[in-house]
Amino acid sequence: MASDRRVGLGTNQEAARRHNLGTVLRYVHGAGQISRAELTTLMGLNRSTIADLVGELESLGVVERALPLTARSGAGRPSAQVRLADVGPYVVAVDLGVDRAVVARVALGGEVVERATLAISGDSSEAWQVGSAVAGLIRNVVEGASSAAPLIGVGISVPGMVRRSDGLVRLAPNLGWQDVSFGSIVLAALGVDIPVQTANDADLGALAEHRRGIGVGVDDLIYISGNVGVGAGVIAGGVRLEGAGGYAGEVGHLPLAPEGRTCHCGNRGCWETEVGAHAIAKAIGCPESDAVNLGEVLDKYVGSRSALGATGKALGYGVASIVNTFNPRVLVLGGYLSSLYALVRPEVDAALAERALPAPLESVTLCLPGLGADSSLLGAAEIALEPLFVDPVAALGTALVDVGARLAG
Ligand SMILES: [Zn+2]
Repeated sequence: MASDRRVGLGTNQEAARRHNLGTVLRYVHGAGQISRAELTTLMGLNRSTIADLVGELESLGVVERALPLTARSGAGRPSAQVRLADVGPYVVAVDLGVDRAVVARVALGGEVVERATLAISGDSSEAWQVGSAVAGLIRNVVEGASSAAPLIGVGISVPGMVRRSDGLVRLAPNLGWQDVSFGSIVLAALGVDIPVQTANDADLGALAEHRRGIGVGVDDLIYISGNVGVGAGVIAGGVRLEGAGGYAGEVGHLPLAPEGRTCHCGNRGCWETEVGAHAIAKAIGCPESDAVNLGEVLDKYVGSRSALGATGKALGYGVASIVNTFNPRVLVLGGYLSSLYALVRPEVDAALAERALPAPLESVTLCLPGLGADSSLLGAAEIALEPLFVDPVAALGTALVDVGARLAG
């Protein structure tokens, strides 16, 4: 293919062009539909360059022309519109919980097109068992996809610590996993080689809430997930805070009660021993087994609110420490913490006001997730889509088509 220089990344000019192609696609992905005039303004490029980039994305089959969203009443020609193609690229997102896994086919643009749920029980929670069951659900959710639509990759959300360099699950305490390459297990069960990205559930919750949830336009956001254990995902200055290895945000192990109960991590008095699901189940007199679906238990809770008073206070104190450390504008309480906050909001707010420093307290708002229970799932979709926004030509080049037939059996 000597005649097609575009296949290679031989020149800086070519690299810059592909970067711009990815950036245009990222804007269309975020907006669903956008005018070429807006793209011109957002990217600071001239109109003919934008027209060329859009034309190439059209020929790649990822965007198409569209009519303006609203008819213009004034004079002048409405600017040409760009929207996502009907049969465009998609990803598979997997949200691993402790008692269930959700698997979804998610289109470019972030729409969940198809989903399936798997129950995980104590005797089926080995990584290879879950991996094989997840692979079965992936086959189900891709079955209905158009054979022409390219599968870009798989994104996996894990309630545990994930090494950034290779996605190794270092520890998922509530699944009992240590040093598990879950992505490889799923791919082996599928029998295909496609890009797979794995990350921590709270980090992905933060990413999704920042890009498409309650925190759109907010560059300093923290998402705290209650998923049996407690962890945080931090977006600082618009960028994910990952730490050296990818393990930043383990706020569940902040030693907030030094004389308190022993934590599963071996330390004493971690925040999780007060606001973790096991501690809350105990506080409201539920069997420990209810900890895995604590959100549903709390949503139906009709017992005394005073049983949760100390928990609410502990939640507020921990949130205060996080607010003091990171100065977020929005702090999202996800997972069962959403249900808990609905029950003990006055206690949480009072404890936060008592312990947070006045200056960072001024700018923070406590919120529930804009994406409901899907924050981490949609974050998993975002990381799987990411290669498309870095270099769409390369990402589409390695994508899998005719996926249903290839994965069958
Ligand atoms: Zn701990």
